[in-house]
Amino acid sequence: MFGRTPKRSNNTKYYEILGVSKSATEDELKKAYRKAAMKNHPDKGGDPEKFKELGQAYEVLSDPEKRDIYDQYGEDALKEGMGGAGAAHNPFDIFESFFGGGTFGAGGSSRGRRRKQGEDVVHTLKVSLEDLYNGTTKKLSLSRNVLCPKCKGKGSKSGALGKCYGCQGTGMKITTRQIGLGMIQQMQHVCPECRGAGEVISERDKCPQCKANKVTQEKKVLEVHVEKGMQHGQKIAFEGQADEAPDTITGDIVFILQLKEHPKFKRKFDDLYVEHTLSLTEALCGFQFALTHLDGRQLLIKSNPGEIIKPGQYKAINDEGMPHHQRPFMKGRLYIQFNVEFPECGILSPDQCRTLESVLPPRPGKNLSDMELDDCEEVTMHDVNIDDEMRRKRYQQQQEAYDEDDEPAMPRVQCAQQ
Ligand SMILES: [Zn+2]
Ligand SMILES: [Zn+2]
Repeated sequence: MFGRTPKRSNNTKYYEILGVSKSATEDELKKAYRKAAMKNHPDKGGDPEKFKELGQAYEVLSDPEKRDIYDQYGEDALKEGMGGAGAAHNPFDIFESFFGGGTFGAGGSSRGRRRKQGEDVVHTLKVSLEDLYNGTTKKLSLSRNVLCPKCKGKGSKSGALGKCYGCQGTGMKITTRQIGLGMIQQMQHVCPECRGAGEVISERDKCPQCKANKVTQEKKVLEVHVEKGMQHGQKIAFEGQADEAPDTITGDIVFILQLKEHPKFKRKFDDLYVEHTLSLTEALCGFQFALTHLDGRQLLIKSNPGEIIKPGQYKAINDEGMPHHQRPFMKGRLYIQFNVEFPECGILSPDQCRTLESVLPPRPGKNLSDMELDDCEEVTMHDVNIDDEMRRKRYQQQQEAYDEDDEPAMPRVQCAQQ
């Protein structure tokens, strides 16, 4: 068929230019080209030679037929005209067809048509900690565009695509203007006649169902399976379920889990944290209480005999944390942090204090002698809220910084005592 057996020539160069492996998918090629072409575009100061190479490599590898020939026989085979490659396309055309979203080449045939990647639709999905502990299914009703079933996304009754005369089917119009010193500026803009579509459908031929819009709206109920142990921020994707459009690879609908704050439990990875406040008596003499878990079970939490709980102390319970995603039988720990609430002032009479002293460990050190007391100065302590105190001090410093130029700083806070 070829007349002579083509000699084997280099068939990896194009892959190297794009920086992908020989097994790269269409998508990977596209991404690699997009990245490299943006970087090397001469308008952005890139090397024109490199830009041309990228266009050439992408043009061949993105066409399954040409890629096949290239893989088997290399670059020379394409130059010799196998597969009808002919002269290489202008690298700018390739770039524009990629980013402008128009048609590839002038033909308007479906073979040369490039499919765009449609956008993903991203939603947040609010979930409770109970949802993530137990797993749940959420039904969500969404409306999306689908290709019109009557015209199969063609927009016309006949299925004929009338090429727009305004732009010769490219969807783009180029105007040039002189900007002095013999320089010409080229400007590209979307064709106003076809609004960039590159084609027009006559009034008579319009599809009655979609009115030549090519798409119709569809209501769809999606069942989102929230699995046990999933994390805040985790994505659940429905591949190819986003809006459909002609010549477009449909994007995904993606749900991003957003955990609502729980009034009682906090989660860190697979562990749960809960705070519990004990009375001083409970802390000293023992306690028990029921803790309602995220699945409604009642856990009996109790101290060991003789155990004393200190303020801020943690205790852990194994296997009562969150289930591990995809291995839900493995669970983290449940940590309980204990607060101890002390009784109010004035609740103990001197007699009761003596009783307490007789049971509690003795006071440290000795009483001060009269002589030692004579050497001391008496001071007054008052209650403070240390957070408020710090905030006030910071504010004061700022004010003083502003006032510095005006007048010598005066003490702003009056002494409590004369
Ligand atoms: Zn239709
Ligand atoms: Zn047009």
